[in-house]
Amino acid sequence: MSLEVPLSQQGRCAVHPDLPAGGTCFRCGSFICADCATSVAGLGVRLYCQACAARPDVNYLEALRQRYWGKRDGWAWVVGGVTLLLCVATAAALAEWGVRATKESLFTFLLLLPVPVGVAFFLGQRWARHAMLVTPLMMAVVADALVPDGRFLYLLCAIPGLVTGLRIHRDVRNQLFFRLPVPPGALKLLWNERFDNPMARQASRFGFSALFMPMFAPVAVICGAVALKRVDPKATPPIGRRNQALMGLVLGLVSPLLWGSFLLLWLSGRIPF
Ligand SMILES: [Zn+2]
Ligand SMILES: [Zn+2]
Repeated sequence: MSLEVPLSQQGRCAVHPDLPAGGTCFRCGSFICADCATSVAGLGVRLYCQACAARPDVNYLEALRQRYWGKRDGWAWVVGGVTLLLCVATAAALAEWGVRATKESLFTFLLLLPVPVGVAFFLGQRWARHAMLVTPLMMAVVADALVPDGRFLYLLCAIPGLVTGLRIHRDVRNQLFFRLPVPPGALKLLWNERFDNPMARQASRFGFSALFMPMFAPVAVICGAVALKRVDPKATPPIGRRNQALMGLVLGLVSPLLWGSFLLLWLSGRIPF
């Protein structure tokens, strides 16, 4: 923004001709007044006109939010699948042993306890996110009431369910499925994880693999070089991961040297095996 221009020479806002422009839009370059100047989450101090700020290629975090809004994520399908399995297992157990007034029968019915929560979760009912956290403990308590001698075992079985539940509860992608408000910082992390220069991540993976298996070295070098060329923090959206791209490139170059000198030492008999 250039605020030093004398008022008489200053442009007028493209949308509000009666107002002086305080600067220009970073994307289209049109004059913008203080009211029109809009900053976009994830793009630092750049200012845009309102039309540009609404574009999905500029407001990429908002576009990401809309893309996943209300759409089932991997966790929703996992929970749905497990729920279905529980129903099938219960039906199979009842078909095999029938319903009797025994504790074993009641234990079989215990498997149905998480089913309503699982169905509600799959359908995107928000209460199910919280109910999922208490379901493993509830099952342990009910199992304990049925057969009291396995208390420690029940709690031990509940722990993986509890840990998975917590992971799902904190997962940003899953929160978008439930149409929950997600702060721009969390959206940025999700963006970085999924869309920020994925080639650079591949490069560093291949680079580390090349240390043990030198045939990966050329792939690491190519991926690293391409990813490094793509890095552009000024682009919209910004493209990062310079360090990972460099790491892949360097490891890909170093690995043949290491293996080459190792081979030379071995051929000259200085390594005794
Ligand atoms: Zn603009
Ligand atoms: Zn304006």
